[in-house]
Amino acid sequence: MSDKVKVTAMAGDGIGPEVMGVTKRILAAAGANIEWEDAEAGARVFKRGIATGVPPETLDSIARTGLALKGPLETPVGYGEKSANVTLRKYFELYGNIRPVRELPGIKTPFSGRGIDMVIVRENVEDLYAGIEYMQTAGVAECLKIITEPGSERILRLAFALTRAEGRKSLACSTKANIMKITEGLMKRVFERISPEYSDITPSHLIIDNCAHQLVIAPEQFDVIVCTNMNGDIISDLAAGLVGGLGVAPSSNLGDHAAMFEAVHGSAPQIAGKNLANPTAFLLSAVMLLRHIGDFKAAEIIEQAIYVTLEERKNLTGDIAPKGTGVGTDAYEHQIIANFGRDSSMASRQYAPLKLPEWPRVTWHHEPKTREFVGVDLFIESALSPGALGESLLQLTANSAFRLGSIANRGAQVWPVSAAETYVVDHFVCRFMVEKAGVDENTAITDLITRVGGTHRWMHVEKLQRFDGKDGFAKSAGES
Ligand code: NAP
Repeated sequence: MSDKVKVTAMAGDGIGPEVMGVTKRILAAAGANIEWEDAEAGARVFKRGIATGVPPETLDSIARTGLALKGPLETPVGYGEKSANVTLRKYFELYGNIRPVRELPGIKTPFSGRGIDMVIVRENVEDLYAGIEYMQTAGVAECLKIITEPGSERILRLAFALTRAEGRKSLACSTKANIMKITEGLMKRVFERISPEYSDITPSHLIIDNCAHQLVIAPEQFDVIVCTNMNGDIISDLAAGLVGGLGVAPSSNLGDHAAMFEAVHGSAPQIAGKNLANPTAFLLSAVMLLRHIGDFKAAEIIEQAIYVTLEERKNLTGDIAPKGTGVGTDAYEHQIIANFGRDSSMASRQYAPLKLPEWPRVTWHHEPKTREFVGVDLFIESALSPGALGESLLQLTANSAFRLGSIANRGAQVWPVSAAETYVVDHFVCRFMVEKAGVDENTAITDLITRVGGTHRWMHVEKLQRFDGKDGFAKSAGES
C-alpha cells in the first residue's frame, strides 16, 4: 500500500489546468509525498446540468482524502445558479479562510521594503454570506447577518492556534462592534473571554474601518488579524494588494474534516491556454498544503526556489517580469525547478504543525439562566405616513397584550417622534412591548398578527427577548 498522502486535485476552469500542471510537476520534482486524485468541478460540470458545479464523485473524493488543491472555478453569470466555490466551502464546513500576506522579493509595490508579513484569518461560513436574503417589499431587500457564539469561538481559537504555529506574537481581532453591537459585538466578546487562555499571544481589538486605514498607513505592524466573514473578505483583498495583488496571493480553507487550498485569483479566461498564466499564487497555495500535511522540507525547497526566481527577476511570466522580458508559464516553471536548493535573501518562516481546535459534532445549544419575553417587532409594509400608521396601530391593538412603543424606518425612529430629515420608505419595524408580565407569548403574538394583519400587510415577526437580564435586541436610532 502506498504511504503517499492522497489529495484531491481539481484543475478547474480557464488557466486552472495550466497552473495545476505546473504545480504537480514542481511538487513531484521537490519530492512531495502526494498522490493526486483528479476530480472535476466548475464550468464543465454546470454544463452537464449539475446546479452546484460540483459532482457527487468530487465530493466523495474530498470526503475520502480530506484534502483538496483547487484551481479557479468560473461562477456562471445568471440567475439562480450556485457558486461551486461556495458549495465546497459550505459542504465541508470550511470555516477558516487563511490568507498569508508577505512581501515577496522582486515584486515591487509602493509598500516594498516595509517588511509586511501577516496572516488574515477570515470566518468563512457565517455572517451575511449565510445567504439568507429576502425582498421584504417590492423595493426593500433584507439580508440576515448570522453570527454565532460557537462560530466565533471556533475561528478565534483557530486564529490563536495559527498565531502559535507560525511563531507569531500578536493577534488583532477586528470588528464593527461599535455599530453592530450584538452581531459583531459577539465576536469581540468571545475574543475578550478566551484571549486570557493564550498568555503567550498579545491580543488587541480594533474597529474594522480603522484596520483598513492602518493596513495602508502602517501594514508592518500586523502579525495576525481575525475577522468576521465580510470584513475579512474585504481586508484580505486589500492586504493582498499591498504585496503584489491577487496574482501572487495564496489561501487555504480549513475545516474539521477537510482542508482546501487555492489561489485567490480567478480563471483569467482571456489568457487561458496561451502559456501566459502566472502559477505563483497557486504554487504558494500548494506550499501551504505541504505544510498542512507536515511536509515542511518540500514546502521550504519550493518556497525558497520561488523567492530566488522572483528576486533574480529572470524568466518570469509577463505580468511580473521587467518590461519586455516576460517568458511563458513553462519557462518560469523550469526556472523555479532550476533554483531548487538555493536560498533567497528572505528566509522562510519556521512553522510548527497547526492544530485545529477540537469541536464536538453535536447541535450547539446554550440555555440561559433566565429568558424573558418582552415584546415583538412586527415588520409592516405600508404607504401611510408614520403618524397615520402609528394612529392605526394604536387603534388596532387597543386592549391587547401589547403597547406600541415605537416605529422605525430603515433603523431610525419615525414614531412617536422622528428626526425631521428621515427619509421614509414602505417598510416599517413596529415595536410592540408586552404590557403585562406573564402573558402567554404564542397567544399574544397570534392575537397581535390577527388584529394588525386584517388592515396592514406584515412580512416578518421578531420576538424581543431578554437573556440573563440583558436585552437581546438593538434599539433603533432615536429610540429611548
Ligand atoms: P481573474 O480571473 O482573477 O482575472 C482578472 C485578471 O487578472 C486577468 O484577466 C488577468 O489580467 C489577471 N490574472 C489573474 N490571475 C492571473 C494569473 N495567475 N496570471 C496572470 N494574470 C492573472 O478575475 P475575473 O476576471 O473577475 O474572474 C474570471 C472568472 O473567475 C469568473 O468566472 C469568476 O467567477 C472566477 N473566479 C473564481 C475564483 C475562485 O475559484 N476562487 C476567484 C475569483 C474569480 P490580464 O488579462 O490583464 O492579464
